[in-house]
Amino acid sequence: MIFLKEKTILDVLFRAPLQGEFMKNLILLSVLLISKLHASEAIGFYSSGSLLSAQSVFERGTPVHKLFVARGRLYTTDEMHNLLTETSEFVKNNFPDSEILQVGDLSARLGGLVAGHDSHQNGLDGDIVYLRRNKYVQSPDSTDWDEDFISNSKPTKNFNTERNFALFRYLVKNAPVTRIFVDVAIKKALCQFATANGEIKDPRTVETLRRLRPLDLHRTHFHVRISCPANDHECTPQSEPVSGSGCDDLSIILESAQDLHSC
Ligand SMILES: [Zn+2]
Repeated sequence: MIFLKEKTILDVLFRAPLQGEFMKNLILLSVLLISKLHASEAIGFYSSGSLLSAQSVFERGTPVHKLFVARGRLYTTDEMHNLLTETSEFVKNNFPDSEILQVGDLSARLGGLVAGHDSHQNGLDGDIVYLRRNKYVQSPDSTDWDEDFISNSKPTKNFNTERNFALFRYLVKNAPVTRIFVDVAIKKALCQFATANGEIKDPRTVETLRRLRPLDLHRTHFHVRISCPANDHECTPQSEPVSGSGCDDLSIILESAQDLHSC
């Protein structure tokens, strides 16, 4: 958890011969050590991992509407907390009349396997409700998702295509997002939306669509996954998705056994 090697510590302490400099460096070192002690750490893989020094969204004051509170999957890495905070701000600033970001399961306090999921084990996965046209906000005490956004193999009228697409573009551009799992009908609709807008070949659109992975059990919410944080040396990364938008092959993709996931 502490990555400062002994040599680095001695370098910092004895770099300057003056006592004043020594004390200054000692204080600097203490601050570094304390900040490291409080940093979260993702361990292992998304579907076989654990989590250290995590805080809950309530301890951090993450500005989201947390669902399924009683389940206790309230914990994230610092990096997922940052993503949720910044995404919530993005929604508020760009769509001031929008409902607040509604967040389902994150991870358990120490990570590990939680019922109903294969992943969500190391604080790098989060479930978020699609943005709605009617801006409905479900109760934090509810025990399951309130709305299925797919009907007759298409997104329902209440699925806000423009806002969800803008949200996905934001996430892929501004956060260390590796994958966003969505229902296949939603990926198809967003491919059609980008084509109709004449932006299907825009590199940023291709990159967004590339990271939208069609997967079962995402009719009610999407699942965002971020990469291993740079300082979490025991975190196991996942291979990158293949290049291209994937719009020409929308069959359900399970790239490997590691990709198996249920929400
Ligand atoms: Zn999930």
